[in-house]
Amino acid sequence: MTLTNRLLISLILLFSLAGCASLPAVQTQIANQAEGRSQVTPTAADPLAQYDANLVETYQPVLAEMKTATRYRIEIEIADSISAIAGYQKVLYSNNEDVPLKEVYFRLFPNNSGSYMTVSDLKVDGEPVQVVLDHRNTAMRVELPDELQPGQSVSICMDFNQTVPSEMGGNYGLYVYLDEILSLDQFFPIIPVYNEEGWNVEDPPINADMLYSDEAFFDVQVSAPSQLVLAGSGVAISSSDQDGRQVVRYAGGPQRDFFLAASPLFLSASRKVGDTKVTSFFLDEYRDGGMLVLESAVHALESYNERFGLYPYTELDLISTPMFAGGMEYSSAVSLSLYYYNPDHNIGNLTFLESVVAHEIAHQWFFNQVMSDQIEEPWLDESLVQYATYLYYVDRYGENNAEGFVDSWYQRWASVKLESIPIGMPAAAYSEDEYGPIVYGRGPLFFAALKEKLGEDELNTLLRTYTDEYRWGIADGQKFKTLAEETCACDLTPLFEEWVY
Ligand SMILES: [Zn+2]
Repeated sequence: MTLTNRLLISLILLFSLAGCASLPAVQTQIANQAEGRSQVTPTAADPLAQYDANLVETYQPVLAEMKTATRYRIEIEIADSISAIAGYQKVLYSNNEDVPLKEVYFRLFPNNSGSYMTVSDLKVDGEPVQVVLDHRNTAMRVELPDELQPGQSVSICMDFNQTVPSEMGGNYGLYVYLDEILSLDQFFPIIPVYNEEGWNVEDPPINADMLYSDEAFFDVQVSAPSQLVLAGSGVAISSSDQDGRQVVRYAGGPQRDFFLAASPLFLSASRKVGDTKVTSFFLDEYRDGGMLVLESAVHALESYNERFGLYPYTELDLISTPMFAGGMEYSSAVSLSLYYYNPDHNIGNLTFLESVVAHEIAHQWFFNQVMSDQIEEPWLDESLVQYATYLYYVDRYGENNAEGFVDSWYQRWASVKLESIPIGMPAAAYSEDEYGPIVYGRGPLFFAALKEKLGEDELNTLLRTYTDEYRWGIADGQKFKTLAEETCACDLTPLFEEWVY
């Protein structure tokens, strides 16, 4: 296809979607809630009721406590070429901070890989505002006409257009259309955390994951060529055929992000763990890997449910996609390196694949339920998730057999000569050679040292309490230390100074 044709398709799709000014029926609900600025109050027709389908029963009451969480209404059309996407989104944002806000930021992560995303027709409460980009076009500043007072809400809507690269680029190649697999990593403008430092926007680091977001609700409608098998976050609440295309509407939340993958080649296999349907999506030629992923995921979910508290959602998707990394965590979805499934590939390895499954599923607790700043304190989720992976091996194969995974931490750390580099530095403070060995190798050894200090039962209690205390919220290293010290009634400063800071 030539550039001209691509542009033409893109334009046709853009105009077939609603602009901010005219809302089709599907957008009426959120539009009604967002008219003007008002205190967000529960209404008779509960706008969050649709998210019941996404949550197991234990967690459904949490919806009543999250009326002011950000709500995204997103519509995307995946072009017949697969690699062009036209989107529209309307966001209902409430100021849950204790200071007035003059602006709201969005992250445009597709632009981390190149110039792949544009935003247009930006409006605040129906009034046009200018699109202002920053941080290598990965952040968009939305100036508010009036300060948004604590407790007030505002409606922000926009169109966005993107072309998905056919080669793996920045951020581990996670945003890509390759080998007939579409992987839409952080594909829509998303609001980062606001805290005492202000809006958390910065140039994306070379190391580490980039997302730092509050819990939110995602109502996502996808129009796609009918031959694509769709997989990802949330749960499908409706689907239909329209003019030879499939139109599927998903509800996801409360959660941190929304991931979508698609391929005409995906096969799938599912199993239930309690009320959660676990599904592995894989290619026919890698059926062995696909089934191993499913089996491992079931064991991981059972293990972590017991240790950290019940997994909150009715679905968990594990999806094989091309990437430079081994795997990537998303809310109620995980992507796993396509190449690990392939025994003929030079990194093909089902043993690694199993450990990546256990690692990424642990992020459903330490990332999705308990968020921390992945750029400032990558150890807090990554090192802990590495330790959780060890616990998966203990639960499934016994303590002796799990020692092999502990050896892998030492092997990684040994690549920087077992140097006592602190595990608790910001991602950017590590060289590329240091980041993996320290955060993924030395990091989990800190949790092993913590177990020595506290005792096994106390550490188990701590991890459970940490999850309960900060579920749907934001934790940091200091909060973890305080909670650990409360658990053991001891001073852990020397241990933290030896390992973390
Ligand atoms: Zn991780």
